[in-house]
Amino acid sequence: MTLISEAALAADTGLQWNHRFATLGPAFYTRLQPTPLPEPYWVGRSEGLARELGLDAGWFASAEALEVFTGNELLAGSDPLASVYSGHQFGVWAGQLGDGRAILLGETRSGWELQLKGAGLTPYSRMGDGRAVLRSSIREFLCSEAMHALGIPTTRALCVTGSDARVRREEIETAAVVTRAAPSFIRFGHFEHFAANGRDAELRTLADHVIDHFYPACRTTSRFDGNAYAALLEAVSERTAALLAQWQAIGFCHGVMNTDNMSILGLTIDYGPFQFLDGFDPRHICNHSDTAGRYAFNQQPNVAYWNLHCLAQALLPLIGDQEIALAALASYRTVFPDAFEARMRAKLGLADSAPADRVLIEDALKLLAKEKVDYTIFWRRLSACVADGNPEPVRDLFLDRAGLDAWLLSFSERRAQTPSELAAGLMRRTNPKFVLRNHLGQQAIESALQKDFSGVATLLRLLESPFEEHAGHEAFAGFPPDWASTIEISCSS
Ligand code: AMP
Ligand code: MG
Repeated sequence: MTLISEAALAADTGLQWNHRFATLGPAFYTRLQPTPLPEPYWVGRSEGLARELGLDAGWFASAEALEVFTGNELLAGSDPLASVYSGHQFGVWAGQLGDGRAILLGETRSGWELQLKGAGLTPYSRMGDGRAVLRSSIREFLCSEAMHALGIPTTRALCVTGSDARVRREEIETAAVVTRAAPSFIRFGHFEHFAANGRDAELRTLADHVIDHFYPACRTTSRFDGNAYAALLEAVSERTAALLAQWQAIGFCHGVMNTDNMSILGLTIDYGPFQFLDGFDPRHICNHSDTAGRYAFNQQPNVAYWNLHCLAQALLPLIGDQEIALAALASYRTVFPDAFEARMRAKLGLADSAPADRVLIEDALKLLAKEKVDYTIFWRRLSACVADGNPEPVRDLFLDRAGLDAWLLSFSERRAQTPSELAAGLMRRTNPKFVLRNHLGQQAIESALQKDFSGVATLLRLLESPFEEHAGHEAFAGFPPDWASTIEISCSS
């Protein structure tokens, strides 16, 4: 590794550092280096995120960048570490976890933390190997950027690199590294960790860090008699409620909503066995390991609320009063339904709200559920119907035509005041044509396993502007093939 000065390196890469998490002190992490992987190759790269990070485009395409984002070379000025956290997994206290395969390179001056996922063993790897396999890395990369383009808060993904180094899962697979970016990767589980160990001083340091950098308004709140930690809990509850409203409206199933996979910033984090619904089934379970359906699609809002109770329990030593903590959680119960209804109203092209909207939305979802109608195609066809006045493509999706016609009538009566062009425009910007369905990811993965990465690049391009038509790419917007329902995605990644 050549040693270049930090200033010279910034000129090359465009990156300058400012490590705020590292200032928390050694109780929060272990400093360590990524473990190299042999002969890396590019699997996917997000030019869009590179621009947002201020990365030099020429450098990002370089052989040095490939080594850096595989963990084989370290940029001067980075300060790699793995953080410790704990958490509840599938409703049970799991004790200490931590970044078992993610290594934080540091934070850029523009406030982006960069993390290599799959970059080798850490003190928190437990029984794991510190690696990530190609298939799940491609899924995380594509879905992070897809969610961002859909306007859903998420950690981002800059690139994926691969190596032929062997990784043992159910079968032998190959290794990959995803470079993730987010303002912070702090999870509910970070708070639970220090609370469970009775380390109130560290708990306070962590909460102060999060408030100062991400929720400064909590310092000056008049709510809860100026209790900044209660205000933090309320703000996190509200962001989480808004996130869940987005997931439920777009038809996104996370699959592993353990408290260690809940972002303190209300971001979608840790993409594992996630799925965008094909046919609308509220009880859909996307995680093959989730036999009890704890994280079924329709359970997600309640699970998030349960997880927030774990966060409240962890913050209790700082908040000081259980009643105040419960009061700080309460707004979830109004913010979630209100935000969900607002998202669904946008899907319906309604620019204003009316008391009967809730029933209109519920009736639509009941009709979809009854016949497991394709969720994404329904909304896109409904958008086209509002634009051109032709209901037939929507009607074609249903056997119960009478039921649908009755609903379409109430819908057209409801939107009588809104000009169709206005409604259709809103619907086209809200109802995507392209989502990362399992079978699309699977096809890109299978090509990538043969070293053809064009499928990853094509999907990325479509998912980066999912509301556009992308003529010539109809196959990516069609019904899933029969084999899609046989894809089994588990926690193994
Ligand atoms: P996840 O279900 O992917 O969110 O992971 C749960 C915990 O297991 C986290 O602490 C991860 O860092 C850790 N983990 C998952 N897979 C591995 C692996 N292959 N090697 C080391 N740690 C892992
Ligand atoms: Mg996780």
